[in-house]
Amino acid sequence: MLKSLISLFLESNCPLCDRTARNLICQPCCDRIHKEKNLHQQTSLKVFAWGAYRGQLKRAIAALKYQNCPELGQLMGLWLGEAWLKSSGYKPGKKIIVVPIPMHSNKLKQRGYNQAELIARGFCQFTGFSLRARGLKRIKETKAMFALTSTQRKENIRSAFGIGPEFAKKNPRSPVLLIDDIYTTGNTVTEATKILEDRGIKVLGAATVSKTASQN
Ligand SMILES: [Zn+2]
Repeated sequence: MLKSLISLFLESNCPLCDRTARNLICQPCCDRIHKEKNLHQQTSLKVFAWGAYRGQLKRAIAALKYQNCPELGQLMGLWLGEAWLKSSGYKPGKKIIVVPIPMHSNKLKQRGYNQAELIARGFCQFTGFSLRARGLKRIKETKAMFALTSTQRKENIRSAFGIGPEFAKKNPRSPVLLIDDIYTTGNTVTEATKILEDRGIKVLGAATVSKTASQN
């Protein structure tokens, strides 16, 4: 009786469908998210994406960002870490420094957390890589990318990043892997890569939870 009472309290609702779930998200939702998996594409920027930005995966990312579900970030980070180790051609033993795409301090205050950092935490938990959440910093407040034209997007993200306090005094000796939630046009990853490479920091590429279908 007591046990069932406790489990009743421990069970919480799935943030994606609101049904009770034993884990963070319910099994049907977890299965539906995994249907979007395997969109592993290596582009010229060496971007590894866990899945397609659509369906239940898109829904889960929205819940992470706008429904105050930080735990989802870590969970997706674990999935990303597992898939990245399997499919990226990583050689065991090689040291990698993980840097999430930073968020502007104003937005961070609003949301309470940077979803890319949470994903990076889960990623590092699985891979054992070192996290440098302050390797980069966001120095410009950018507008949401989806409403902008291709030219506006490039302009929007230009000079948005700077070297963060963790790399300010000394460059990391190992190459950097960038982490983000969504890969859309590549402008964000390109800009972040440029800032690091200008400082002489080697960038391996990026790993993102999802990738949109359009590449304009
Ligand atoms: Zn669910």
